[in-house]
Amino acid sequence: MGIHLTGANKIGKKSRHDLKLMRKAGQIVARVHLLVREMAKEGVNTLAIDEAAEALIRGEGALPTFKGYHGFPFTICSSVNEEVVHGFPTKERILQEGDIISVDVGATYQGLIADAALTVAVGEVDEKKKRIMQCTEEALMNAIAKAVAGNHLQDISAAVERTNDAYGFGLVREYGGHSVGHKLHEEPFIHNYDTGQPGPLLEVGNCLAIEPMFTGGLAKVKTLEDGWTVVTVDGEPAAHYEHTITITENGPEILTRLNEI
Ligand code: MG
Repeated sequence: MGIHLTGANKIGKKSRHDLKLMRKAGQIVARVHLLVREMAKEGVNTLAIDEAAEALIRGEGALPTFKGYHGFPFTICSSVNEEVVHGFPTKERILQEGDIISVDVGATYQGLIADAALTVAVGEVDEKKKRIMQCTEEALMNAIAKAVAGNHLQDISAAVERTNDAYGFGLVREYGGHSVGHKLHEEPFIHNYDTGQPGPLLEVGNCLAIEPMFTGGLAKVKTLEDGWTVVTVDGEPAAHYEHTITITENGPEILTRLNEI
């Protein structure tokens, strides 16, 4: 989820104890992503994915962070094709071959939060959808690589925008990343484009949710009457990838990537 924050010139740091809990929350979110990859097949309705995600999170002793957040009614945001973010999972939305589905999910473990999103192809999808997904995931990884102590927040934002130079997709500007931890959305907002301002200094202990979104056509988006679902204005498909990371002395650590067992 990406809500617009005002911005701040300092980013909070998490304690070792906070990080321990965020690592646990991150692994729960990563397991939900694995579940989404397994479940996102033709004929599956998106509410079934939501229910399975909620059961997994609660089974780990965690809470679904999004459920009830500003009134959002579900565990996951499920955004199919032209839906960009904050879509509702429903029984009626049955996945079809060629769809792409973006799932965003948060887990709260003993008060600490991890938040991450991915886009999954349902069966075989067209070349354009593949490239939007590739661009968005690449933008996320390029941005994470800039999450190094001594850099500025702007280095992350600019890396997202620069990734698109080779692709030329629509870059959604209204939504973006955020600091995360005790609250889902902590200051500052992380733009997905070069603002021309350095922004706050990145320090060891910062925890960030970085989340680029790209569309296959115009960058312009609108919100549907449900007050949540964000769609592209031209009906072109969109992708969304997000990880929660922490900045360590050795560089970025991705908390929402499944650890090797
Ligand atoms: Mg987020």
